[in-house]
Amino acid sequence: MNGVYPHRLLEGKVAIITGGASGFGESTVRLFAKHGAKVVIADIQDQLGLSLCNDLVNKIGDNVIYLHCDVTKESENIENTVNTAVSKFGKLDIMFNNAGIPGNLDFTILNSDNENFKRVFDVNVFGSFLGAKHAARVMIPAKRGVILFTSSVASVLAGESPHSYTVSKHAVIGLMKNLCVELGQYGIRVNCISPGSVSTPLVTTAMGVDKEVVDGILCASAVLKGVVPTADDVAEAALYLGSDASRYVTGVNLVVDGGYSTTNPTYS
Ligand code: NAD
Repeated sequence: MNGVYPHRLLEGKVAIITGGASGFGESTVRLFAKHGAKVVIADIQDQLGLSLCNDLVNKIGDNVIYLHCDVTKESENIENTVNTAVSKFGKLDIMFNNAGIPGNLDFTILNSDNENFKRVFDVNVFGSFLGAKHAARVMIPAKRGVILFTSSVASVLAGESPHSYTVSKHAVIGLMKNLCVELGQYGIRVNCISPGSVSTPLVTTAMGVDKEVVDGILCASAVLKGVVPTADDVAEAALYLGSDASRYVTGVNLVVDGGYSTTNPTYS
């Protein structure tokens, strides 16, 4: 998919991508780097993150770094990640708060584990909040910047995910909208991407089945036929929202699900 644009859309931009070692994050790291961005891969999977970083450094030079960053740890990790991006690359243009976890697949309220609910909220919501907070800290004085979140189709659908995950992904939309209103005066755009299911490690591990099986299920349930969704589809949405091509777009929840959520009666 990479290469459909005649020119590089992120030349000179500096981006942090949390959860950048795997899945949507990894695809976005590769696409952003290809489009000329300087990229900070922020994740807790050090081996994966370093190997992705080394691969890109070999291909495009030292415009990519990996930092260990647990998004739930403010002073130890998130604050340091933002500060390191600015000291190494001079500024921060795009903060992609993408890290997330599915949590346990405990679907009913009576078998929901309280600690799991708190953990899902901690990573998916509080981690996104901390990432946005420290990005805003450096973007407000610069009077520019883009803050992106990965929510989920669970932000517009009910009943398909455990309560912890659905509620956490709705909360990310609330955070995005509030920040859109608060930060617009500084020229900062705030948007969200809500993917449908894609066979990343998050899904294959949670379901305990191979990628081919997940892809088969997705194809069977798809509205848009003939397309197997990949992490690159989400990366392309992030490229659009991160680049100046979307310079007048803010406060949007861009659903990338091949039309799946339109078939659900709870959609609004
Ligand atoms: P993934 O598991 O491949 O990648 C998620 C990454 O986040 C991993 O590298 C993981 O190490 C990292 N991460 C987890 N906890 C972290 C923490 N505390 N601090 C920093 N990094 C952490 O999964 P993915 O599918 O690429 O998921 C990315 C985002 O997309 C998540 O927010 C997820 O909820 C969302 N999402 C995924 C799907 C899907 O079908 N795959 C659909 C909708 C939304």
